[in-house]
Amino acid sequence: MKITIDAEKCCAAGQCVLVAPEVFDQRDEDGVVVLLDAEPPAEQHDAVREAAAICPAAVIEVQE
Ligand code: SF4
Repeated sequence: MKITIDAEKCCAAGQCVLVAPEVFDQRDEDGVVVLLDAEPPAEQHDAVREAAAICPAAVIEVQE
């Protein structure tokens, strides 16, 4: 799995961080998403898929 993000579109809702806190974080100053791990281990994959699905701004792209 490989993750890319388009942080310009991020509306800082934080949904991704709630679902997959080991893969996503938010910048302290404005809440924009920070990708912690672009190639997460298998046990994170379900959470990452869910984060991509619920992101309100379609910021998270996942390549399987
Ligand atoms: S869920 Fe989407 S819009 Fe919200 S912080 Fe994460 S990447 Fe940004």
